[in-house]
Amino acid sequence: MNTERSHELFSRAQTLMPGGVNSPVRAFKSVGGEPFFVQRADGPCLFDVDGNRYIDYVGSWGPMIVGHNHPKVLEAVIDTARNGLSFGTPNPLEVTMAETIARLIPSCEMTRMVNSGTEATLSAIRLARGATGRSRIVKFEGCYHGHGDSFLVKAGSGALTFGVPTSPGVPKALADLTLTLAYNDFDGATKLFDECGSDIAGLIVEPVVGNANCLPPRDGYLRHLRDLCTQHGALLIFDEVMTGFRVALGGAQARYGVTADLVTFGKVIGGGMPVGAYGGRRELMQQIAPSGPIYQAGTLSGNPVAMAAGLAMLELIQVPGFHESLEAKTNALCDGLETAAREAGVPFTTQRVGGMFGMFFSAEKVDTYAQALACNTAAFNRFFHAMLDRGVYLAPSAFEAGFMSSAHDDAVIAATIEAARGAFVEAKSA
Ligand code: PMP
Repeated sequence: MNTERSHELFSRAQTLMPGGVNSPVRAFKSVGGEPFFVQRADGPCLFDVDGNRYIDYVGSWGPMIVGHNHPKVLEAVIDTARNGLSFGTPNPLEVTMAETIARLIPSCEMTRMVNSGTEATLSAIRLARGATGRSRIVKFEGCYHGHGDSFLVKAGSGALTFGVPTSPGVPKALADLTLTLAYNDFDGATKLFDECGSDIAGLIVEPVVGNANCLPPRDGYLRHLRDLCTQHGALLIFDEVMTGFRVALGGAQARYGVTADLVTFGKVIGGGMPVGAYGGRRELMQQIAPSGPIYQAGTLSGNPVAMAAGLAMLELIQVPGFHESLEAKTNALCDGLETAAREAGVPFTTQRVGGMFGMFFSAEKVDTYAQALACNTAAFNRFFHAMLDRGVYLAPSAFEAGFMSSAHDDAVIAATIEAARGAFVEAKSA
């Protein structure tokens, strides 16, 4: 595969941008090698600057649920852009967006639009703190909620020790306010709430963890978290930046029948434009400025072009059967990968939830962060490159979920499985 132009661009980029990229995981640091630079994308495929085609299971990290360059989304963006790119005043599309969210996600009686998932989660925890008058936040190891200071924290040496910053620049005093739990551990959560439940403003969780590969909740786990929060007067925050509109039309709340107090969105809701949102019950959301005292704002928030892209995307995924079909595609891919791995004699298993999936180089089923960490990362990295050489682009890290789109047809999925047959053998023998 010729990658001359990508290589030349990456050399220039590294002298001008930290690591040559604008977001770390794109640099291929965990899998090794150099990233490719994309010229254009269409349906299930990316095309790089050297003319190579890749079947894409990253989908811009989640937004491209109907595939790249969908004509309806593109049309909405172009039509709206003709009227101006940003007004800094209210616009009608924001109202339609808030109505659409309230209809699809009943717990979001009111919504505030922002510009990224990071902004959504930062704003949600400010609201949780402001509304409860408490300071502590609970999060889970392996969950990612954007790069806000309070989230770049790992557990201290014991479950109830203060959090430890995972990035220089995060003040220790702030990290102290973040408590960290092990996902899918029922007793750990009970114990933590028993010991300091009355200090906890909110618990934030990816209801299906997509930032530690793909870890679905154990039966009753989300209900357990709901009950603990209710019992102790803390707010339950579902970070549905990844799962929203993807694991079901109504997201994880609909799929698992558990209602959160606050929900954050990103990715699909922007149709590929920079958009995030957070929403919840009216009495909570009304505490946000200007109707309430908790401040949060944005020059470009509710941007008309971004709203048009998101609305077009949300329209497309409301077609009856959309999510059933997406899930069937995910299952076909994951079943095929498991068979190919078995044939090659490689210990391998998958997890799937709706339109997202995880691949684990492990013989055992994986549903905790500790188990995900124990998988064979070196084998994943070899498999990643063997697939890339065969024109299939997987997330460039063993700890990221894969994303299916409605544009992945049977032929593309069959070609992926065929590529995997060779790639598993190569990953094994290397
Ligand atoms: N929450 C989750 C669950 C995410 O997966 C991400 C990004 N991958 C974020 C928040 C942050 O979103 P953004 O990158 O748009 O700031």
